[in-house]
Amino acid sequence: MKEYFGGCHCGEIKYKFVASKSVEIWKCNCSICTIQDYEHLFIRHNDFKVIKGTKFITKYCFGTKTAEHLFCKNCGIKSFYQPRSHLDSYSVNLRCVEEPPEIKNVVYFDGKNK
Ligand SMILES: [Zn+2]
Repeated sequence: MKEYFGGCHCGEIKYKFVASKSVEIWKCNCSICTIQDYEHLFIRHNDFKVIKGTKFITKYCFGTKTAEHLFCKNCGIKSFYQPRSHLDSYSVNLRCVEEPPEIKNVVYFDGKNK
């Protein structure tokens, strides 16, 4: 396990989390993940911490409103959020992580139909 850091584009929001050096990510075909080409890395809430910029975090909800699509008020980037598929975890966008872990395998999730 290793500590990683990530955040939004403008740098107002920063977080850290612990993950394996080789991880599984999910790609989802739902409307919002497709438009962003989001790379999901699920991190349990206990292994994740926002270290800067809580006040810049805002959210967007749609559909069943179970997922909380969190994004930066300043730059608009969704660097992590609360997914409906894993309610005990956050989904970190691997593209927003500095020196990210390597991708072991990719799971294709049919979020459009689930
Ligand atoms: Zn930002």
